[in-house]
Amino acid sequence: MKHKVLFPVLFSGVLLLDIIAGGIVFLYGTGRTTLAAEISLPQPIKVYSAEKRSYVMSETVVKSKEEWKKLLTPEQFHILREKGTEKAFSGKYANHHEHGIYRCAGCGLDLFSSKDKYESGTGWPSFTAPIAAENISTRPDNSLFTRRTEVLCRRCGGHLGHVFDDGPKPTGLRYCMNSGALQFAAASK
Ligand code: FE
Repeated sequence: MKHKVLFPVLFSGVLLLDIIAGGIVFLYGTGRTTLAAEISLPQPIKVYSAEKRSYVMSETVVKSKEEWKKLLTPEQFHILREKGTEKAFSGKYANHHEHGIYRCAGCGLDLFSSKDKYESGTGWPSFTAPIAAENISTRPDNSLFTRRTEVLCRRCGGHLGHVFDDGPKPTGLRYCMNSGALQFAAASK
């Protein structure tokens, strides 16, 4: 009598474990596939080129953490790839007024023009707009117990800073960037 009860219990237990294990393997498998596709396949994107004064086709820049570490200085890596923030008034572009273009320090994409730079008094280079909406991406950032909007390079996904709605006219926006995420290129005129 005992065995007759025990067998179905054991059998259903094993079956249940099998179903759970199968599910885990399936989920793990699909997760890996998605991750591999995201890492290995650059996507075509249309971005603005200051040099060409028009939109051009480009590709997203995809690199491993190790590859970025070799390319960037420790400070650039911390800001761009680990969402770091430089100390206020410490960055090379906080008080910088030359005419030209601020590019991504990670991939070289044109990000901001000196025409849109203004003195915010915050100690970080501040702009009223990016050089083109297509050259950046934004996403909600709810870290540090606040609601902010993170700004990233559209091409390499590098963290640049945040955008706030307390900027001057005409946009009313303040793109608060890290100097360490940018590389300035002077314009000829
Ligand atoms: Fe970039």
